[in-house]
Amino acid sequence: MQADSSLWDSFVFGGIDELDVTVVTVAFGTVDVTAKGRGAGAACPDCGRFSGRVHDSYQRRLKDLPLGGQSVVIRLTVRRFICGAGDCPRRTFAEPFARLTTPHARFTTRLNHVLERVGLALAGRAGARLVSQLGINTGRMTLLRRVMAPPDPQFSTPRVLGVDDFAIRRGQTYSTVLTCQETHRVVDVLPTREAGPLAAWLATHPGVEIICRDRAGAYAEGARLGAPDALQVADRFHLWQGLGRAVETCVAAHRQCLRAPAPPQPTSTDPPPGTPGPPVPDPAGRRAQRKKAAHALVHELLAQGHSRRAIARHLGWGLNTVLRYARATHWQDTLRENRPRPSRLDPYKP
Ligand SMILES: [Zn+2]
Repeated sequence: MQADSSLWDSFVFGGIDELDVTVVTVAFGTVDVTAKGRGAGAACPDCGRFSGRVHDSYQRRLKDLPLGGQSVVIRLTVRRFICGAGDCPRRTFAEPFARLTTPHARFTTRLNHVLERVGLALAGRAGARLVSQLGINTGRMTLLRRVMAPPDPQFSTPRVLGVDDFAIRRGQTYSTVLTCQETHRVVDVLPTREAGPLAAWLATHPGVEIICRDRAGAYAEGARLGAPDALQVADRFHLWQGLGRAVETCVAAHRQCLRAPAPPQPTSTDPPPGTPGPPVPDPAGRRAQRKKAAHALVHELLAQGHSRRAIARHLGWGLNTVLRYARATHWQDTLRENRPRPSRLDPYKP
């Protein structure tokens, strides 16, 4: 099937005025566009002088944006012009199609732009699956190259800097991510979550006024060394996380204070008494039962005259675990909140 080529100039290549479409054919799901340059000549890239003297021409094959779900291929005739200027080192130069594509590219610029957007949103495999549905056949590596092609975004040193760790492989390799807390954009990534790299980064990026961080000592140290004048604050996420944990521990420790619910009054639809109901999952209760049993076991062995070290060996537990149970008068004391931990406030408590 052949289409009217003048419509293509205005519709499909609107804004790309350097192109003259001569023939369009559609066959087997592919639109074939034959085109050539429209201008009488071009400017030499070295001396800038215009030349219309054609040396020869060659074919370029360019993939373009799909049309109605069909892939589009542009067969482009490129002329090579002779630069006749005596003082110019260049003899010939190829006709540029600056709006359509870049030298040596196999795709049009607008197709590359779409692939870059898809690659940034979906990366390699998922992006390749999506574009093949849209009529663009390309591999995942092509998309990944488009993602890596744009230059890294430039940033200015933020006034309010967020510092937090993140795991590259969960629980194995930790790095530090620096964010601007005002624009919520990633500023940099440091290779570890230790004090040194943060201090070095802050020293080379002066101007940070507030450092919003988690409560890790390493970040406090790094911030103190690298930006001694900056105000350090705990970020909201870690405050909420700390509060959540404290409430959970407190509620668990006071579990025994909860009154057992009164047995429900039997109704006509209830099964007769004695029929077992569905099991009720109660992980907190199981944990408490485990602690209760462990506490009883340790104290029984202590009563039999075994040493704490011998009990740890016998049970295969850590010595600290056995010491914790041995110290606790009641098993409830082994729940975390009731375990007194040394604090820098201790000297002042009396
Ligand atoms: Zn020239």
